[in-house]
Amino acid sequence: MALTTLFPPESTATPFATFATETAATPFATFALSSTEAAATPSSTIAPYATALNGVNQPMNILFRNAIWWGLGVLAMLILIIRLMQRAIAHSRHTAAMGLSGEAQAYWSKNRYSTWWKFKRHMLYAPLGKKRHNREIRLSSAGNIGTIPSRFHAILLTIFFLSNLAFLAFLDYSRSDRYSVLADLRGRSGVLAIINMIALIIFAGRNNPLIPLLQISFDTYNLMHRWVGRVVVLEVVLHTMAWAIVKHAATGWSGIWHMVGTNPFISWGTVGTVALVLILILSLSPIRHAFYETFLAVHIILAFIAILGTWIHCEVAKLPQLAIIKAVFILWLLERVARMARLGYLNYSLKGKAWTSATVTAMPGGASRVTLHLPRHVNVKPGSHAYIRFAGIKYWESHPFSIAWVEHKPIHEETLPRQEKETPVEKQLREPETTTDISFVIHAQTGMTKTLYEKATQCQPRQLTLNAAFEGPYGGHHSLDSYGHVVLFAGSSGITHQIPFVQHLIQGYNDGTVATRRITLIWIIRESEHLEWVREWMDLVLKMPKRREILQVKLYVTRPKNPRDIISPSSTVQMSAGRPKIGYILREEVKAQMGAMCVTVCGPGGLADNVREVVREVQDVSVVDFIEESFTW
Ligand SMILES: Cc1cc2nc3c(=O)[nH]c(=O)nc-3n(C[C@H](O)[C@H](O)[C@H](O)COP(=O)(O)OP(=O)(O)OC[C@H]3O[C@@H](n4cnc5c(N)ncnc54)[C@H](O)[C@@H]3O)c2cc1C
Repeated sequence: MALTTLFPPESTATPFATFATETAATPFATFALSSTEAAATPSSTIAPYATALNGVNQPMNILFRNAIWWGLGVLAMLILIIRLMQRAIAHSRHTAAMGLSGEAQAYWSKNRYSTWWKFKRHMLYAPLGKKRHNREIRLSSAGNIGTIPSRFHAILLTIFFLSNLAFLAFLDYSRSDRYSVLADLRGRSGVLAIINMIALIIFAGRNNPLIPLLQISFDTYNLMHRWVGRVVVLEVVLHTMAWAIVKHAATGWSGIWHMVGTNPFISWGTVGTVALVLILILSLSPIRHAFYETFLAVHIILAFIAILGTWIHCEVAKLPQLAIIKAVFILWLLERVARMARLGYLNYSLKGKAWTSATVTAMPGGASRVTLHLPRHVNVKPGSHAYIRFAGIKYWESHPFSIAWVEHKPIHEETLPRQEKETPVEKQLREPETTTDISFVIHAQTGMTKTLYEKATQCQPRQLTLNAAFEGPYGGHHSLDSYGHVVLFAGSSGITHQIPFVQHLIQGYNDGTVATRRITLIWIIRESEHLEWVREWMDLVLKMPKRREILQVKLYVTRPKNPRDIISPSSTVQMSAGRPKIGYILREEVKAQMGAMCVTVCGPGGLADNVREVVREVQDVSVVDFIEESFTW
């Protein structure tokens, strides 16, 4: 019999007809022998299994697709429920403790359920092993290869891996034709890859609505994005190999190349696969960290090509996954459009016909203090960060920095109330009558931040003015208002993340709107001249009414040029040479605890790991929550 009679040409439409409907009513009944297998089995030869949905167990694929969606949905709901419970507890603590003295908040400092503090100690705050989580793994001083996921993240990722592995491996091995099994694997891996792409795209977005909803930081989504991405690429490679092995068996290499070159279905599929493999290689930690901005630009272009390739691949064959890849593209596009719209809205004012400008001041110790003068009013919560780009300094790059200080100014001086000029302007004026200045401290690294610093040092008096663009604010979803006692650790430029919390809490203490009765700020710097970075704002904070009642500042200068410069200005602002004994400091704070305590840290990964270690140790003593902000992703 002629081969063409046994195996109709690739373009034959019939195989698709078998899978016209995705909604097979009885998926379980089809496990033993899917309708597709039934169609292909009689021939028991190879070629049909390299084309269309022959040999693919679509009802089972739909079942696993639903399982993944349900799994992710249930996980998100669980996290949401836990978060809502935490917020409800925080809210009731806030309202109940707001009017109480620190001593009267004892009820809130006691652990009620041992299960909860044990969960925090052994799971939520735990590193994967003994201690290391955020301290970067370095091959050399320049070669950063990333950090180790926390225990909780590692468990979530392992469940994700194992479930994908199980779904991939759950094939009908009893089939007589092993090429039919490979076809089944091709279908399964393709479907899983596309389904995972939805999560992949959502996790990548700065404007991901799950960030404020679940109060999980972009950092965590970014970690998930990386690992889901790796799984997607592996599945896509499996998908392609499962096709290529069968095709090779049927036609040899010439058949493969012929299809890649002439068949749009295969050509675009190959384009998508190649783009994803390139993404995987270029996103390896040492490459990503060494050339972050180049990596990012290439990553976005390759992601677009991969989505486009997959879309056309599904479109040509009218695959049931077409709707999913369209959804992936729409999500990707929406996020990009949201960023552009935000950028335009924040940085240009039609009313004032003005664009954002920046004043950059070179500070001692290789840092620049940057103030962006926005043409409109922007509200910023403590703990927020924003992306900045500067005209004339690698303008195509946008870098994230913590927002250190925010000031609202009247658009026109005459709109200031004449009688009460000394009261805060924002209380007197409506938002549209003010514009906002937002300040940052940017420590020079080796790329854009270094160029910025050098340009500012070349000016006289070390100050540069240029146009800039602000994208944000992002983050800022943690509220410390319900804690009676707050301990903030900052390493180097990490102080910028903590100052807005200190200012907000002291203001809240004065206004009677927060439960906080004791704040301890610990700032570790290498040299005392680094104090200059934030002196202006710290002076304003230290001059706030009743500041002495609530704030203690402990400064540690690890490598002072002259130890005689290390003098404590007052009993509430102490300065010491050397590194802080984090264990001792935190245990002393716990001894004097007022209400529930929150410990936050922003700085180098090693500092965060040290603080985390002690916070875990004291979990059984009292209520101590932990929040960390990392500058690494
Ligand atoms: C949420 C957040 C807040 C931050 N806040 C501050 C701050 O207040 N002050 C401060 O000095 N630094 C802050 N950083 C770090 C800062 O973003 C990087 O140091 C800066 O982007 C380095 O730019 P560069 O071109 O000089 O980098 P390079 O010298 O080329 O690289 C230095 C390091 O920065 C990383 N990096 C480079 N570009 C980016 C980018 N676009 N996004 C993320 N990481 C990048 C690289 O992976 C590398 O590890 C923050 C980072 C994050 C994620």
